[in-house]
This record gives sequence, C-alpha cells and structure tokens, in this order.
Amino acid sequence: MRILVINSGSSSIKYKFFKMPKGRVISYGAIEHIGEKGSKVKDHHQGLEIILSRINHQIDVVGHRLVHGAEEFKRPVSINNLVIRKIRQCCAIAPLHNPANLAGVLACRRLLPGIKQVAVFDTAFHQTLPDYAYTYGLPYAYYKRLGIRKYGFHGTSHEYVASEAARALKRPLERLKIITCHLGNGCSIAAVVKGRSIDTSMGFTPLEGLVMGTRCGDIDPALVTYLMRKKRLNIYQMDDILNKGSGLKGVSGISNDMRVLESKARRQDKRVKLAINVFVYRIKKYIGAYLAIMAGADALVFTGGIGENQKRIREKICQGLFSHLKKKPKVLVIPTDEEMMIARQTYKLVKAD
Ligand code: ADP
Repeated sequence: MRILVINSGSSSIKYKFFKMPKGRVISYGAIEHIGEKGSKVKDHHQGLEIILSRINHQIDVVGHRLVHGAEEFKRPVSINNLVIRKIRQCCAIAPLHNPANLAGVLACRRLLPGIKQVAVFDTAFHQTLPDYAYTYGLPYAYYKRLGIRKYGFHGTSHEYVASEAARALKRPLERLKIITCHLGNGCSIAAVVKGRSIDTSMGFTPLEGLVMGTRCGDIDPALVTYLMRKKRLNIYQMDDILNKGSGLKGVSGISNDMRVLESKARRQDKRVKLAINVFVYRIKKYIGAYLAIMAGADALVFTGGIGENQKRIREKICQGLFSHLKKKPKVLVIPTDEEMMIARQTYKLVKAD
C-alpha cells in the first residue's frame, strides 16, 4: 500500500511518500512560501499539484496531519463530509493551525477524487488524560460550553518515540512507564503509562508548559492583564509577545536557536546562560513531577532538534535528576518521525476498514 503523508502548514506543505507496511520511504520533500509575496505558488491547491507531479507512482491512500481534534477525535479517522465539518468546528480553538491543515485536505480531495484520505490528530494521543489532569481551575462552565481544557500537542511524536523506546528496551509498551521529551522549536513533555498519555505539558494551546524557542510556556496568568494595562498592548500584540517574542529568544535577547545560544554560552554571555538555565530548569521540574505521578519511570526519552542533537543540554537536564531513585530510568535518544507514525496509523485504519 502506497501512502502519501501530507503536513500542510500556513505557508508550506511537507510530504513523505511511503510503501507500507515496511515503511520504506519512496520520496519526500516540501513546497514552501505558499501564498507569500513574490512566490510562484499562490495556494495549497497549486502546491499540491506540484507535489503530485513529482510523485510518479499510484497513490493508494493519503494520511494528513491535523493539529487539533479537540474531544471530537480520539483516534485517526477516514475523511468524509461530516469529518470535514467537525474539523472546521475545531478551527475556532486552533485558528493558527487547523485552517491550514484543512486547506491541504480540501486540495487533496479535489486533486485525488476517489482516493481514501485519513486524518491523524496531534491531540488524539493525549485524549487518555484523566479529567483531574486536563481540567483547569477555572469555572467549570467554560469547559462544558467552550471546550476549555488541556488538550496537549505533539501527540504523534510522543506516541512514536514511546513505542520506539519499548522496541529499544525489548519490552512490551504495555508494561512500561516512559517520560518523553520533545525538544525542538516547540517543546513538550509527556508521561506515558502502558502506552497511554496520562499527562502532558502543552495545554489548551501549544503555549503552555516548557520554555520554548519563542514561546513563554507556564507563566502567572495575571501577568497578561498587567502587561496589557502597563504597556497599553492590544490582544494581538500580547499574543505576539507570548508566542513569538518570549522563550529562549525573549530571555537571551539573541536567538531562539539553541545551537547559536550554546556557542555564545561558551563565550560566557550571561543572558544566554540564563536563558539556557531557565529552559533546563523548567524541563527538570516537569520530569520531577511526572516521576511523582507515575511513581518512577523505566525510561526518559529525548527527541526533537535539541533533544536529538544537543548532548550538553541533555546532560544538564539529567544532572542529579535521578540521584534519589533506587531504580534509575534508562535515558534514550530517539529521532522522532511523525510522518512514519502517520503512515503507520493510516495503514492500520485502512486495513481495519
Ligand atoms: P521544530 O519544532 O520547528 O520542528 P526542530 O525539532 O527542528 O524544530 O528543532 C529546532 C531546535 O533544535 C533549534 O533550537 C536548533 O538549534 C536545535 N538543533 C540542534 N541541533 C540541530 C540539528 N542538527 N538540526 C536541527 N536542529 C538542531
């Protein structure tokens, strides 16, 4: 079965073409700058036309990455008109991501009529969180009426590396307690027990939790209204500061790129060192919390650009982390492969159908 995996963002479409069940990659690539000034590719339809012209094999199924499935989608689904309507409803709580994902789905439906399309949701893996982990201390009516709760993201990545960790440890996933750290530009951490996510750091949006490249992660929510008043910021400016001007970039004042920061830290730049220390400290705190809720762990997994490549950051995180534990978790580095996970889940769904 030949499966085309599509990750459609606001100005790019990434693709990977697989032969399943072996998971052999036939081809991959990306179309960028879609709809941007001066770009030859004016929309997702045109972008996808280019991708299809590059793939000269029969496509059997298309697997799409969808960021937000809210409580509606707990597992991958075959796309039909009803599913599209429900994905549209989820756009209200994921206005940055879902419309762009949906543009890819709609373009595929037009260009590949009759070819089965599957949606795999980034939030689905975390739908197993217990209610006391996903409920915020806010009026309960906001949850019931507006769907305000923790959803969690990067689910496809956390699920993939947790299953690969079990493979590496040569033990069944159903018997393991694993903490997975996805550290890229966006960063999140998950507590995975018996293959099910029981807690994760990102929340209603991907802003909560760890300190990230440009996102602040956990802060005192009262700061938002204080800053808006003090600096006379409107909601869009405030949103920009929290999402694009904070994190490693905001603290260091230099860059959101950890490679740049590491090289500057060696030259004793104080603000850069502080940014790295804040980043590392927050991760340590979350790992400590997850060790407590899981009563220990069998493995701690690092993935994402920083997690996979930056040994010194991993070492700083792990320093003294397990000294109080009799049974120390195995520390593993596992490159993530979200496209492969989407291809596997798409294959499984089509086979079951
Ligand atoms: P995204 O969340 O956008 O997918 P990545 O997973 O590519 O991001 O991670 C980007 C971060 O990883 C940056 O801070 C970058 O400095 C860091 N990094 C370190 N080494 C590498 C590497 N070899 N390739 C890519 N990113 C790296």
